[in-house]
Amino acid sequence: MCGIVGILDAGEVSFSLYYALYALQHRGQESAGIATFDGATINKYRGEGLVAEVFDTPTLGRLKGHCGVGHVRYPTTGTNRPENMQPFLFEFQDLHIAIAHNGNLVNYTELREEYEQRGQIFWSSSDTEVIAKVFTDEIRGGSSVEDAVHLCMRRLRGSYSVVMIINGVLYSFRDPLGIKPLCIGKTRTGYIIASESVAVDALGGTLVRDVRPGELMRVSEEGIACTQIAVANCPAHCIFEYIYFSRADAVVDGALVYDVRRKIGRKLYEEAPVNADSVAPVPDSGTAYTIGYAEGSGIPFVECLMKNRYMGRTFIMPNQKAREQAVRIKLNPVRSHLEGKSIVLVDDSIVRGTTSRRIIELMRSSGAREIHMRIGSPAIKAPCYLGVDMPTREELIASNKAENEVRKSITATTLHHISIEALVEAIGMPHGHLCTGCLTGCYPVQIEGEIDTPRAVNFVDGSFQTNLGTFVEEEDL
Ligand code: SF4
Repeated sequence: MCGIVGILDAGEVSFSLYYALYALQHRGQESAGIATFDGATINKYRGEGLVAEVFDTPTLGRLKGHCGVGHVRYPTTGTNRPENMQPFLFEFQDLHIAIAHNGNLVNYTELREEYEQRGQIFWSSSDTEVIAKVFTDEIRGGSSVEDAVHLCMRRLRGSYSVVMIINGVLYSFRDPLGIKPLCIGKTRTGYIIASESVAVDALGGTLVRDVRPGELMRVSEEGIACTQIAVANCPAHCIFEYIYFSRADAVVDGALVYDVRRKIGRKLYEEAPVNADSVAPVPDSGTAYTIGYAEGSGIPFVECLMKNRYMGRTFIMPNQKAREQAVRIKLNPVRSHLEGKSIVLVDDSIVRGTTSRRIIELMRSSGAREIHMRIGSPAIKAPCYLGVDMPTREELIASNKAENEVRKSITATTLHHISIEALVEAIGMPHGHLCTGCLTGCYPVQIEGEIDTPRAVNFVDGSFQTNLGTFVEEEDL
């Protein structure tokens, strides 16, 4: 999971990219990077840490240009090497290219081997470099950008939302299934393409629409050209964007995430009603769900755990004891709201079960009588291969345990996960338009050793023509 942004504007873009990345910080905290094109060359700056730690005013001042891309990276096992920081840059002939990507290729290894055999040299272990190599190899052979993206969509398997600058032009494309989000917004003097609409909001812009699955967008001083390169029989939007990843104030593929979570909260009550003194969130992830549960049940919303918002990723936890201590520092129980009370505790998901168990222990030690756990996601049964760093099956508590066994393990009085049917209804799109791989173990793309229901992808006829892109008026976008 990462956050990406691309901006083309009449003025300098480095500060706008910085604000947009700030808005997308929840999508990645390992590193941040910006690349801009100043008319002659690409200027870049990348560093480990949060956006605010990586950039300062002089650095942003040096990133000159009216066009640029930015990236925030999520920490994934074994990939936190400095060379994996994005955007990636490529220069050849007269082309200056910077590329940033969110997603994960499942055929990364085979493509990398193929391109290595062709003589390509890789400097990172990131699949973004494979995307860039497939693309630039085609461009070097004389193809147009449209043809090169067409080839990418034929060769790449998995999820990819991409923003890219080539000299002074901003491009973006999204895999034919639209697994990871990507949207376009209009600012006062330019355009922004970003993982979530919150980045558009951060610049005071207006969300225009989502980039369509399989679509290539070209944004330049002349306007916007949209080219539908590939069309799938149905998309496979990541269902976890609504449950956990996206910010509650984001609009993802047409749905406001906050409203989806609130509806899920109501449905949690309908599916598993309980008499209790109060309903409380695990802050902050459970808040919107809890509001829905309180509305549906009439049980008062009372916060029982207070979150320390200043506990950053640099908090030192040298051993297990310190890690246990950490939950107390991060979440402080409000004793008078817990003593002798029966509480409905609402969270977005249970992954390993360790955090839920610690929180429940904490609440019990502060006097809670009953803790009825309600979860906004169905049980997570399988890993994600499409861009989310999830534990292995063995580590996922629900992969081999029934709900009642999970309940015992986390020591809750009762436990209920939302059903997939209710979740899909809350999102408001057909079940078949969503990826539910980690919930069902059935993935929308072919993955070795896993069950899949791959979508049929059609390309814009067999003889793909260049320059299919048509410049469109803003209102026709
Ligand atoms: S497997 Fe789960 S987390 Fe991964 S893309 Fe699909 S729904 Fe999202």
